[in-house]
Parts: sequence; C-alpha cells; structure tokens
Amino acid sequence: MLHGLMMQMPLTIASLIEHADRHHGDAEVVSRRVEGDIHRTTYRELNRRSRQLADALGRSGIGAGDRVATIAWNGYRHLELYFAVSGAGRVLHTINPRLHPEQIAWIVNHAEDRALCFDLTFLPLVEAIAAHCPTVRHWVLMSDRAHMPAASKIPDLLCYEELLASGSDSFVWPEFDENTASSMCYTSGTTGHPKGVLYSHRSTVLHSLAAALPDALNVSARDVILPVVPMFHVNAWGLPYVAPMVGCKLVLPGPHLDGKSLYELFEAEKVTCSAGVPTVWQGLLAHTEASNLRFSTMNRTVIGGSACPPAMIRLFEEKYGVHVLHAWGMTEMSPLGTACTFKSKHLGQSAEEKLRLQTKQGRVLYGVDMKIVGDDGQDLPWDGKAFGDLLVRGPWVLREYFKGEGGDPLKTDAAGRDWFPTGDVATIDADGYMHITDRSKDVIKSGGEWISSIEIENIAVAHPAVAMAACIAARHPKWDERPLLVVMKKPNAEVTREQLLAHYEGKVAKWQVPDDVVFVDAIPLGATGKMLKTRLREQFKDYRLPTA
Ligand code: AMP
Repeated sequence: MLHGLMMQMPLTIASLIEHADRHHGDAEVVSRRVEGDIHRTTYRELNRRSRQLADALGRSGIGAGDRVATIAWNGYRHLELYFAVSGAGRVLHTINPRLHPEQIAWIVNHAEDRALCFDLTFLPLVEAIAAHCPTVRHWVLMSDRAHMPAASKIPDLLCYEELLASGSDSFVWPEFDENTASSMCYTSGTTGHPKGVLYSHRSTVLHSLAAALPDALNVSARDVILPVVPMFHVNAWGLPYVAPMVGCKLVLPGPHLDGKSLYELFEAEKVTCSAGVPTVWQGLLAHTEASNLRFSTMNRTVIGGSACPPAMIRLFEEKYGVHVLHAWGMTEMSPLGTACTFKSKHLGQSAEEKLRLQTKQGRVLYGVDMKIVGDDGQDLPWDGKAFGDLLVRGPWVLREYFKGEGGDPLKTDAAGRDWFPTGDVATIDADGYMHITDRSKDVIKSGGEWISSIEIENIAVAHPAVAMAACIAARHPKWDERPLLVVMKKPNAEVTREQLLAHYEGKVAKWQVPDDVVFVDAIPLGATGKMLKTRLREQFKDYRLPTA
C-alpha cells in the first residue's frame, strides 16, 4: 500500500481546549457552584487553569496512565479536571456518586485510582470510603481555602485551589499517541460487579466530531448548551468535549437539578440546547406546567439514556416549541450511537407522522455500524418489523473491558469483523431508523411471544394521571410470563386499575394488555436516573396475577 503524505497530528483531548482558547477564547463557561453562587469563566481562562492544574498534578507524583478519579457535579472545576488529567496523559475516572458507597470503594480499588477529587457535597461520602481505598494518595476537595472543613477524617486533605496554584501555567500540553487512554467510566451493571470502559483520546475526539454534526446533536458556536446529564454519566454524553470543539457557551448546573433551578438557569443564560434522561425532563415539565411557563430561547433538547415516551415528545414539540432529539447510546459506545433526525423525505410529512418517527432512537452517526441478528446469529431484515439483538461496531465502541473483566465481549462475523452486542433488542426500518423494543433482560415473554415493556410503559405514561410506569414480567403458570404494570400516579391525580387497563383498548393487541396494575408511591431509580426494573422484579417476584 502507498501511504498518504499528510501530517500525523494526533487527535488529543488537549487540542479541543487549545482550539477553544485560540478561537473562542471569550466564550463563557457558566457554573452554578456547590457553594450556591453563579461562577463565570471563559475557555481562555479555563485552558490556563487546566494547564496549571496539569502541572500541579505532575509535581504531586501523578504519572502517565495514572487514574485520577472525580466525584463531582457539572461545574468548571470538574471541566478543568477533564482537560488537566487527560490532556497530560493521565486517565480521568468519573465516578457516579449515586452508587452505593461500598460499590464506589470497589470501583476506586479496581481502577487503582491515585487521586480522588470531589465536591464539598460528597465530603461525608468520601470520608466513609477513604479508609477502604489504599491506592489513593491524594484526596482533593474541589473548593477554596474558605470552604475547607476545620477538621476531616481524611488525613492530608488537599484544597483544589491551593493544589492548582502550586502548578505553573507556562505548562505546555504534551503530544502523544492518540490511542493513549484518556478517561474511564464504570457501567452500573445490574448483576455482578461494574465493568470499566477505558476511552482513548482518539475515540473521544472522533466521537466529538461525529456528535456535533447537524444530523447528530447539531451544535455550533452560536449555541448555549446546558448538559443536565451529569459529567459522571458517560462524560455528559460527550458535551464537555463537543462544546469547546465548536466554541459554544457552556452552562453547568452544579447540584441544582430540580425543575425550578434548571428553568431559571435556562432563561437567565439564554440556553438554546440541553440534554438529559427522561426522568429529568419530567421534573422540569412538572415545574413549567404548574407555573404555566415557556422557554424563551431553548429550541431543542437531547433525550436519551432510556426510551423517551411519545407523550413527552408531543408536549415538548406542540406546547413548548422545543424540538426533541431522541438519541441512543451506551457507556460502551462513548456513548452516542444513533440520533433521530429527519431525512428530506420526511419534511413534508404530517406532524403526527413526524412524532411517530421521533419515538424511534434514530439513525447511526457516521462511524458507527449496526445490525440486528436473530437467535441463530443471522442478520435480520431492515423492515421495521423484524426484531433481534442489536450489534454495533466503530472507533468509539468498546473492544474489551478494563483488565479484561468478563472475557471477550465481542462476536465475530463470517467476514472476521468484530461486533459488540449491546444487550438491546431492536428493529431497523428500510431508512435505517433503529427502534429499541426492549433491553433483552426486560422483554416479557408471554407464551413464546415477546411483549415490549417500553411500548406498554409509553401508553401508560400518556394517561394524564400517570407520572411514571414500569412494565415487568410476572410469573404465570400457563404463559410463563405476563405483563404487570407498576404505576406511580401524579400528585393528587386519580385513576383506577380498570380505567388504566381500558386505556390500552385499540392501542395494542389484546394479549399484550397487562394482566394487572399495582400502584406504588415511588418507582426506584438507578444511579443514572433510569427505572430500576431489577429492583421491581425482585419486589414483585411472588406476585400472584389475578389471571394465574
Ligand atoms: P448506560 O450504559 O448506563 O448509559 O445504558 C445504556 C443502555 O441504556 C442502552 O443499552 C439502552 O438499553 C438504554 N438506552 C439508552 N438510550 C436509550 C433510548 N433512547 N431508548 C431506549 N433505551 C435507551
């Protein structure tokens, strides 16, 4: 093969913030701090402080490849760590604080984190686990001297601002192989221990380039982005990298994720685009609905992490004029795989047809390839009807878990190409729009026929009295499994079991209608805001259906 004669410039994370500094130096990064106030900085200042922090970390003995963990909200100091740690060839390990403390300690030990930086909110949590984390040499409280506790159970607790000040801002980002590890996240596995996903500079930069495209998240220098999705949930879906790459203003909400605080920030900072899981928008919409508010600048929002109910898409689109961008991905995919944007041929369609299309998870971003296969591993047709296991491949898709945990996760096809099995069950239509019917573990198998729990839930939450609904399999002597609908009502709303079951008439086949409805005060949510169906299945494992 003849090699091309172009420069070999490595794709590195530091190049993103360098670019933002040079070309969008005055674009703002606004954070609501844990301390309560609003903080303003720019990409220029953020790059300067990140370089200073990178130098300080080096002086404290954090070497190439060392893992530096964070337990922090979305804020500018967390963003500085994103660049300071990865930019200098170390690995940023973002930890989800909503996990059980024992699980957090397990993750820290498994990753062999050398330093752990955390927000003031998490001081009690970190104090509880510190003694169980022998690999950590530096504990850094992400605040200034004035907010440091008078005493702490953590010996030699460092103050972030003092640590940063000990570095020099004449530090220059080093260049290195783009395949160097940059960051890691652990997947909150439903069974067994969490598994580490180790991203590289190359995978992160390629993912950012693809994510910013018009048919993906469509972000530009003219946007103001507020990621509600936490920086500990798959790197806030890549937005902390995409924002400096395109040079848009970035607004970080800190710990204040309730509807009222978010709405105020959207309006005050003239946010144009946001991103988060459906449960977050439920909180926001409850606030705007109750106070009859409208968004003056927000024109679109990315919704993913779990299926976005059609009723939510409709409300955003029709009442608020906010375009919903339904997207799908997973930790193992950095995370973006698909986004639901229209093709030219859809533009003339009716509003109803467009809404129907938007409930699908969408088309793949260039770079990701996908297919669906049956139980025999054979490819299934793209007809929008056949459903099977969804497999993906691409330069920002995982090849192997950290430390080889769980063995080889890939499946090799006849042509010798490796595919990552997502664990999702989906259809793909002739236009390439993928639609998740279920997580394979959540599918309900009734007499050999599959019932999509997502479809049943979407219908339930379209009922005005329903706040949240989960459909799980309950054991049945004849059919093996039958759907049981678990419902959390809206405050002060009334609906009976019979009314809810009648609500399914004409919407699904008779045999897909749940056999029973149970009302609960709350539906348990996992660490990333998704319904914890494993917990519900456990809770209702002995449930006796009236039809049994
Ligand atoms: P995680 O790695 O924790 O982000 O979880 C990834 C999983 O979340 C996927 O494999 C899907 O099961 C689910 N998921 C993510 N986005 C969507 C979506 N838009 N619709 C349905 N399920 C989704």
